[in-house]
Formats: sequence, structure tokens, C-alpha cells
Amino acid sequence: MADSLRLPKYSIGVGDRFAHQAKAQLQACIQGAQAGVEVIPVWNKSNREHNIIGSEPSETRCAADRAIAELKWSKPYFLDADHINLNTVERFLKPCDFFTIDVADLIGKPADPSKVNDFVKRHSELTGTIEIPGIERSFESDHAFVHKVANKYLAAIEEAGRIYRHIEQRKGTGNFIAEVSMDETDSPQTSAELLIILAAIADDRIPIQTIAPKFTGRFNKGVDYVGDVNKFSEEFANDIAVIGHAVERYGLASNLKLSVHSGSDKFSIYDPIHRALRRFDAGVHLKTAGTTWLEELIGLAEAGGAGLALAKEIYREALSHCDELTVPYASVIDIERASLPSPDAVNTWSSEHFTSAIRHDQANPAYNSSMRQLLHVGFKVAAKLGPRYLQLLRETEPVIAKNVTGNLFDRHIRPVFLGSASGTPALS
Ligand SMILES: [Zn+2]
Repeated sequence: MADSLRLPKYSIGVGDRFAHQAKAQLQACIQGAQAGVEVIPVWNKSNREHNIIGSEPSETRCAADRAIAELKWSKPYFLDADHINLNTVERFLKPCDFFTIDVADLIGKPADPSKVNDFVKRHSELTGTIEIPGIERSFESDHAFVHKVANKYLAAIEEAGRIYRHIEQRKGTGNFIAEVSMDETDSPQTSAELLIILAAIADDRIPIQTIAPKFTGRFNKGVDYVGDVNKFSEEFANDIAVIGHAVERYGLASNLKLSVHSGSDKFSIYDPIHRALRRFDAGVHLKTAGTTWLEELIGLAEAGGAGLALAKEIYREALSHCDELTVPYASVIDIERASLPSPDAVNTWSSEHFTSAIRHDQANPAYNSSMRQLLHVGFKVAAKLGPRYLQLLRETEPVIAKNVTGNLFDRHIRPVFLGSASGTPALS
């Protein structure tokens, strides 16, 4: 279909927990365009975040549309129903045009044996030596391996198909972008597994434009990547090669690309990502989230006065509800309790001391990753403050906006899409 929605090559998912930063976020994309790279904004907010804040997806739509109009953004933009399933998708159907179909819970659920057998029979090309352009070492695969992988993923992919068709029925073919996410699971998918997964997705006729595998290493909330950067680099490049191969072989969408979840603040892998994108002339969707909420807090603290006082109050509350706040995120945060300063000590801090502790500058000796992670999951505290928090957001808007835009542009768009200052050429 000629006018089906199509996700451009480079896109950045931005989360806006309190729906006050859409303009500042869009400004970062405008700076990207001025610097020579077109990065499309996608506002993402999961059902869980909406539940914690007590907000509705339609409010995210209003905030995004307003920013687009005010800043006269004429390129595409999207609204992502992040990590939805059949139970949660309903309220996202109208306002959203991008759906991240989350089937991670079904990974490993044994599939119908006859379907697994059919899959293996249908895909004899997946056994033996598999040569993929762009991957140096060919994959060795056999019948048992394909059978095992199919058995592990087919039930999840079938469910993705059900969810996709449910959305399609309601929104109409071509009126939304579909992503399948498999990141919220225990073990990473290898590139060979990804190939089998893509074959199954093509069989099921799910026209995904992005796929979010789980990569090797830890993608903790709000902090840098933890893991073997070399291993990640190889895997990321191989995944891109596999996608290129699968697009040709199975007729998947020609703009299909990787989606990197919890992609914010992963500074040590941005250069490898940038290099791989250049090498393959490939696109990527970098999904960020809580990094903007932390910039709100940094902006409040930087503003001083009532803003700083509120930032301190939020920290005190977050610390006293530490378990309750951190348990739901236990697998994606690493907080050292002993490194968390006492609220009384924090009370004596200046604006600069507070912002240095939580701004993501690892070179700053005052940077405290435990405090940053606790506050990252502490947005529930601000949500409880309700109008008092929102009022201060409005009063300190210029200083917050500067932090939100600067964080997205300097620390995310620049290294991923434009390349580091060390002279890596920009993507085009
Ligand atoms: Zn995710």
C-alpha cells in the first residue's frame, strides 16, 4: 500500500512521564536536523508507567501534538504503545500509531508440536551452514537446533500475530507501525536465533518495522551498559546483517531495523552502534525512557529555591520507600545501599552538589549511580505530589528544558547518530 505508515531510518523513542517535556525533547531532534541527521521522535509510555502516574495515552498524544505544532515540526513523529499485550492495548488504540507488541512472557512456552515440525520442514534453508553477507563466520545449524529454537519462540510469535491482527482490525492495515519486543526475558537471543525468529514472524505475516531482541549484557535503567562491549559490538553488527538477510529471504519490510530498549544512557556502546550503522548503512530505533524524568529532577535542583527543596524532598521519600520502589525493577537496577547518602546530608547540599550527584557524568567524582538509579525508579513519589510537582515543573521550565534537550542531543543523538567528537563521520 502506497501510503502505509513507514518508520524512517533513524528514530529515537522518548519517554515523558509527566507529559511536560515534549517540546524540549522535540528540540533535541531539531538540533539533530540542524547538525545534519534526521532523527524522528517517537513518544513512548508503557501501560505500567501510565498506571503509576495515573495518566492516559490520550494525554501523551495531546502533549506531542502540541509540541509538533508549536515547533512546526514537519517530518513524521509517532506515539508508541510501549510493551502492550491483548489485555492492555485497548486505551492505546485510538491515540497511538506505533505498537510495541510484547510477547516476552511467552518465550519458552512449548509450542504446538505439529507446528514446530511444520516449521522445521518448511525451512530447510535454516539447517546446515548458513552464510550471511556481512558476517565473517558462517552459522552452523542443524535440525535439532532449529527445532529447539522454534519450540522456544513459536508460541510467542503466534501471540504477536494475534495482537497484531487485533490492532489491524481496529486501526486498519498500514495505519500503524508494529514492533515486536523480546527484551524483557532472562537470556539474550543470539543472531542465529534472531534469524529463526524472523523467519517465523514472516511466516505469520506480521509486517514488523522494528524488532527488539534482548542483547548480551545488562541494560540497567538510567546508567551505562554493563557487560562485554566487544561481544555486544559483534552481536549488534551480526543482528543487523541477519535482518538484512531476512528482509531479502523472507520478504519482511525493507525498513526493518533493530530497536534498542533501555537505550538511554548506554554511553559505552554508542560508538559501536554508530560504527555498525555506518558499516551496513542500517537504521536503528533507540528507545529511551526515564532519562527525561531525571533531567526534570536535575532541572528542579539546578533552579534552586523551591525546586531544589522539592528535589530533596523527593529523594527523602524515595529513600524511605526504597524497597517498594525498587522491587518491580529489581532485574534492571543495581543499587548499593551503602552508597546512598542520608536525606539529612542531602538537605545541606547546594544545587551544584545535587545535580553533580545525579547528572549522568561518570567523569564527575560526585556522580552517584546508586542515587541516580533510586531516583530513576522514584517517579512514583513525584506522581503522588501531583499538582505541587507539576506547578514547579512549569515555574522552572526554562532550566528543565535546557537539561532535557541537552541530555537527549549531546549525550544520545550526537554519539549514536552523528558520531563522537573523535572524528567519526555522521550518518546520512
Ligand atoms: Zn523494553
